[in-house]
Amino acid sequence: MNVDPIFSRADMMEENSSIRLKKFLLKKRIVQLLYLEGNKSIPDIGRATGMSIPTITRTINELIDEGLVLDNGIGASIGGRRPNLYLLNPEARYVLGIDMGRFSTRISILNLSRQIISSDGIIVSELENDESIVEKIFQKAKELIANTGIDYRKLIGVGVAFPGLIDAKSGMSQTYKNFSDRPLSKFFEDKFDLPVFVENDARVMALGESYFGLAQGKENVLCLNIGAGIGLGMILNGKLYRGNSGFAGEFGHFEVEPEGKLCICGKRGCLETVASGSAIAKRAQIDMANGMISILGRLTDETPDRIDAETVVKAAQLEDQYAIGLLSEMGEQLGKGIAVLINIFNPEMIILGGKIGMAENYIIDPLQLSLNKYAISRIKRDCQIVTSKLREKSALLGAFALVIDKIFEDLKEYPNNKF
Ligand SMILES: [Zn+2]
Repeated sequence: MNVDPIFSRADMMEENSSIRLKKFLLKKRIVQLLYLEGNKSIPDIGRATGMSIPTITRTINELIDEGLVLDNGIGASIGGRRPNLYLLNPEARYVLGIDMGRFSTRISILNLSRQIISSDGIIVSELENDESIVEKIFQKAKELIANTGIDYRKLIGVGVAFPGLIDAKSGMSQTYKNFSDRPLSKFFEDKFDLPVFVENDARVMALGESYFGLAQGKENVLCLNIGAGIGLGMILNGKLYRGNSGFAGEFGHFEVEPEGKLCICGKRGCLETVASGSAIAKRAQIDMANGMISILGRLTDETPDRIDAETVVKAAQLEDQYAIGLLSEMGEQLGKGIAVLINIFNPEMIILGGKIGMAENYIIDPLQLSLNKYAISRIKRDCQIVTSKLREKSALLGAFALVIDKIFEDLKEYPNNKF
């Protein structure tokens, strides 16, 4: 896609005219500044961009005419006349966020203040076997767009959190065969006719945490996405780490139980087979079928198949001894793995997210005990273990950041004063 989705096509048509290009880039830089830092006065914007007050005033007026910027009235005085403040119009553009899981997909529309403005679009479908899932997502997205009443032309892009291995060079899925014959973004671009950016789900979640969650302003943070599997998104030295081929973070697939259960990756006894949301749900299902006594029975109408990770967490919150014990064992197993991560990366924070993040202290307390046993205590002391405050929104917010980041990418080539 060559057309910049923030501005009209006309702005880009004369890209070869250097004055038009400079004007376009300055507008974009101002939009970026207001997006990242919120309200700004004309002198603030002048200082940040290195441009003159008359140029900024003229450009701001054009952005107001285009509906991208709002005049927010008078700001606080810092001596002298109080300046007018300007802000980005949150309803000027929208992003579609798609969080795809192995068993279900969640779709939301976000405005420029990254508020979710639509209801949740949930599709329950098995990614591996469903050829038509992209069409289903497209239909659901259209439904959400129609319900919110927004103009499709105001959508600037689609961010997709996708599970499994994604080849960084080709953009193709290496995990889901029904998605492996062309770049993942193409599957969606063909339907949506919008720029689409796809990234591994744990990394998208880390991006969400780093922009809007507990990892904000931190340089070295590891985010665990514990749901059907166990994913790892890493912010290292302030940047999202992808690894050589884009496959970094396959933390769920190292052996903790020799000759253990068969894993989705084809090996046996991976951490994912004992400490993921799916693993504990499966164990509870088997135990219930074998007569275990627990609140889980009441929560699921005595139907083992209905137990999922969220039900186990819910039972623990109701002080069910069985569920607390299960989460405790899971925390201990996770701790063995996390100890290795702490020893290798010396992170300042580890964020537990995904469905199991809601278990909070039921999982953090046993995990800490396990870390006392397995991590080097001096390194562990500097690392906070927390559960995500963004919860299930972290991937949608990360998908939003993925789109916005790409849209402002061209500004990196133009330092201030060069607009
Ligand atoms: Zn595995």
